[in-house]
Amino acid sequence: MNRTVFFDMDGTFVDLYGVDNWLEQLIDHDPTPYRIAEPLLDMDRFARSLDRLQRGGFRLGIVSWLAKNSDADYDTAVTREKLAWLKKHLPGVKWDEIIITSFGNAKEQFAHTDRDILFDDEMKNRGSWTGIAYDAGDLIGVLG
Ligand SMILES: [Mg+2]
Repeated sequence: MNRTVFFDMDGTFVDLYGVDNWLEQLIDHDPTPYRIAEPLLDMDRFARSLDRLQRGGFRLGIVSWLAKNSDADYDTAVTREKLAWLKKHLPGVKWDEIIITSFGNAKEQFAHTDRDILFDDEMKNRGSWTGIAYDAGDLIGVLG
């Protein structure tokens, strides 16, 4: 199987933590912050990098957590917002897979090969990843 480049969303290319009162709203099970979060990067440039990767034979994946204190209804609402965010801000990107999973789930379980790549702002996720893992700040530097 071709290698997959996986991307976390929140804090990696989605500025969830830049939304005013994001934590209070998540605790209240309000999905709004996921909808109104701004991109952390130039999305046109990011989309071109993703397209180049895909044409180079890499698969493109999202692996993103749901909110910490959640229930089935809130999980559904947050999943909907995350998918809508991707459609709105990266409309031309053809993701090979999109994994929206429970908060805290080990991300390495979703890797397909031990040479898959992860971009993630959480050190713990990078540390447990079996392939190559980069911090969010390295995104443009690594992808160009
Ligand atoms: Mg993150």
